[in-house]
Parts: sequence; structure tokens; C-alpha cells
Amino acid sequence: MHRATLYQKLASDLVKCTACAHYCHIQPDNTGVCGIRKNIKGELFLLPYARPAAVNIDPIEKKPLFHFLPGTQIFSLGTVGCNFACAFCQNWDISQLSKGKAKFDLEKLGEDWPPQKIVDYCLEHNIPSIAYTYNEPTIFIEYAYDTAKLANQAGLKNVFVSNGYGSAEAYDFIDGYLDAINIDLKSFQPEFYQKICHANIKPVLANIKRLHDAGVWVEVTTLVVPGQNDSVGELKAIAQFLAKIDPDIPWHISRFFPQYKMEDSLPTPLETLELAYKIGKTAGLNYVYVGNCPDSKWESTDCPKCKKRLIERTGYEIGTINLKNGQCQFCKTKIAGKWE
Ligand code: SF4
Repeated sequence: MHRATLYQKLASDLVKCTACAHYCHIQPDNTGVCGIRKNIKGELFLLPYARPAAVNIDPIEKKPLFHFLPGTQIFSLGTVGCNFACAFCQNWDISQLSKGKAKFDLEKLGEDWPPQKIVDYCLEHNIPSIAYTYNEPTIFIEYAYDTAKLANQAGLKNVFVSNGYGSAEAYDFIDGYLDAINIDLKSFQPEFYQKICHANIKPVLANIKRLHDAGVWVEVTTLVVPGQNDSVGELKAIAQFLAKIDPDIPWHISRFFPQYKMEDSLPTPLETLELAYKIGKTAGLNYVYVGNCPDSKWESTDCPKCKKRLIERTGYEIGTINLKNGQCQFCKTKIAGKWE
């Protein structure tokens, strides 16, 4: 347990958490929507500080990040809890654990990974970056901040894999230490965010632009769920929104497989993924990828100018990289991303 930084004290021992766009008002002895930030006697505490529920060394392509240190490994961690409760969550076993009826001691769940231990592990094993992933990182922002600051001082990079629902206060707090982020843009319908995620779409759209404009490397993922967010109009709206901010933002179109509360749904048809890919390219996006899909034709990076292959990918495996100093080796076009 760790005293939170991002909150305000209100009258009668009430607190207002400012870590994410829910801005929960929390009564004493209660937690906010995420289930991991608790009001104890008028002060806010982050319960699973330094106690990640999942720790893995992943290929960075799995985040997915395709234009950021390709072919490297990334130390990946996430705590219990989440500020969303998506019906199709892939990590629901940890993200929703803090909200169920069963009571867990959130300070003791998981493994002991204080910030310095993570940084030391990465340095010892030549792992160049750390991902705060599996659940929404801004809900454990104080833990992410302490780790990211030390990592930055040690020359490591920091990455969020996020639903984009952080608060302005959270991004201001971690400013200067966050190198890249993959944001889920789950839909372009406000109703989808309200119904499926119990949230508001506006902060997500604003944060994609804000972080891009702040110089954080941004990639965006859309899980295409049959019957929920797969209409031509909606996919076009997402692609056009991204292209308007910057046609160099990579858009990852991800295939849905039935899980959690959507076990009765069907996987995304391959034709829908192909259609989404074409919509992305027609909207002017230079880098559109189709993932979570065997034998995808659209996992590799091609030069937007000369069309030659720059990075060959098969699943999380990287083949030849034809980039030098961030430029296409064939026609010397600068390729957006952070490559070294
Ligand atoms: S992080 Fe978000 S969901 Fe959690 S308590 Fe704070 S405002 Fe509420």
C-alpha cells in the first residue's frame, strides 16, 4: 500500500481521485471504480503498489508496438483492477479481480516488484524497455511514475498500453518519462463506450491527440467485434480521425475471439478485417496492420513511398529490417517511429 499523489481532499473525509477521467469521489473505506485506490481516513492509497499481478518478458510486437524498438523484448507488468469493465476483456481475470464479491487482500496479491528491482532486472538482462500493460496503467500511476523515473535515469524506455482514459493530471505527472503508448480506440460510438465500457469516449479521443502532440510515440489498436463496432461507417470514422491527427499513426486492427462475457459471439470474419484494412489505407493512413490473426498479409511494414518491405513480421517474429537511421534503405524516406 502506498499513499497516492493524484487526489484531492474534500470535506468530511471525502476524496476526489484525479488519476483517470472518471474522477471518482470516494467515501472513507471505499475504493473508486477501479477497485484499487482506497480512501482510508480521508487519504487516498494505491493498494497494489509494487505488487503486479502479472509479470512477463514479451516481444514488443505483442503490445502491439511496431514502430518502436522492433525486435526487442519488453518487461511487462500489470496490477489487478481497471477503470473499464469491457465485456470482451482479454485480461479480465486480473482486471476485474478487485471488483468482484470475493474479497482479496490487494496489498498481498501478486509478486513483489519494487521500482528499483524492475530497473535492475532490465539492466541485468539487457531489456531496453518497460511496459505498463495488462490493465490500465493510469490507475496505478504512482507505481508507474516511480518506476518510469528510475528507468529513464537508467537509459530505459517506458511504454503504456492503455485504454486512453487517463486524466490530464496523470499525463502531466508522468510527462517526460513516457516514451510510447498504444491506445485502444474501441469504437467511435459514444454509446459503445457508455454501454460496453461504462465510460465516455471524449477523453479517449482527446488523449490520443494530446499524447501525439506532446511527442509521445502513439500507436492505436481497434479490436473489431462482430456486430458491435464493425460497420463501414464506424471503421471509416476511426481511420479518418487518426489520419487527421497524423497519417503516420500506426493503426492495429485486431481480430476478436470469443471470451469473458462475449463467449457466445463469433470471431471476426477475415473479410471484415480485410475491409477494415482497406478503409484505413483509403483514409490515408500509411501504416495499417491486421493482428491476432494467423497468416495475416498485413503484419509487415512497407515504405509508404517506394512500397518496398522495411520490416518483415510473422506473428511476433521479426525477419529482415531494411531501415537505417530511421530511413528506408531503398529510397531514403524517413519512416515515422522510434527505432533506436
Ligand atoms: S483511477 Fe479512475 S477509476 Fe480508479 S479511483 Fe481514480 S478516478 Fe476512480
